[in-house]
Amino acid sequence: MSEAIRTAAGRSTPHTHPSHPCGPLVQRTGPAVLRRWVDARGAVLRSGDRTGECQWCHGSPGVGLFFVKAYEVLGDAQYIETAKAAGETMYAHGDVRANPSQCHGLAGNAEVLVELYRLTRDALWLERAHDFAARTLIYRKSTPEGDVWQGDDPLSTSPDFLCGAAGVGHFFLRLLDPDGMRMPLL
Ligand SMILES: [Zn+2]
Repeated sequence: MSEAIRTAAGRSTPHTHPSHPCGPLVQRTGPAVLRRWVDARGAVLRSGDRTGECQWCHGSPGVGLFFVKAYEVLGDAQYIETAKAAGETMYAHGDVRANPSQCHGLAGNAEVLVELYRLTRDALWLERAHDFAARTLIYRKSTPEGDVWQGDDPLSTSPDFLCGAAGVGHFFLRLLDPDGMRMPLL
């Protein structure tokens, strides 16, 4: 474990903000989302069944990000436990879409790992985020004009935030400073 991770892990106080302006909205929607989230671990998938998708746009990483924010705003322990379950599920799926992007790839999925670390200070989540960063780096392609990153289509490259280089770069910046560099969509 790096010195930076050890130092940060020593701070154990959750960074919750019950007076956050999003409080009333999260308070209204949080219990409803908890009731509707189907636990499909171990499910047998049929053709066309999208239950197994596990990405920011379709699956547990996006759900986890909502519950991290719900915990940050309301401080309710059931929300951080749900976010941790989403993080565990996502981490077990690994590079499920063979894609490095924010929307449905490694960078976006790892956001829930960074957020779990930011709120819990449990170094395990940051180590897992760095593991996903190493997997993301495999997609870096050098060209005479500079580095390019895979887009939505595996045969394409893109500078986009959601499906390309900008989002991947933002994830790497977040890893360097999880508290100072925040996800713009949260
Ligand atoms: Zn997507």
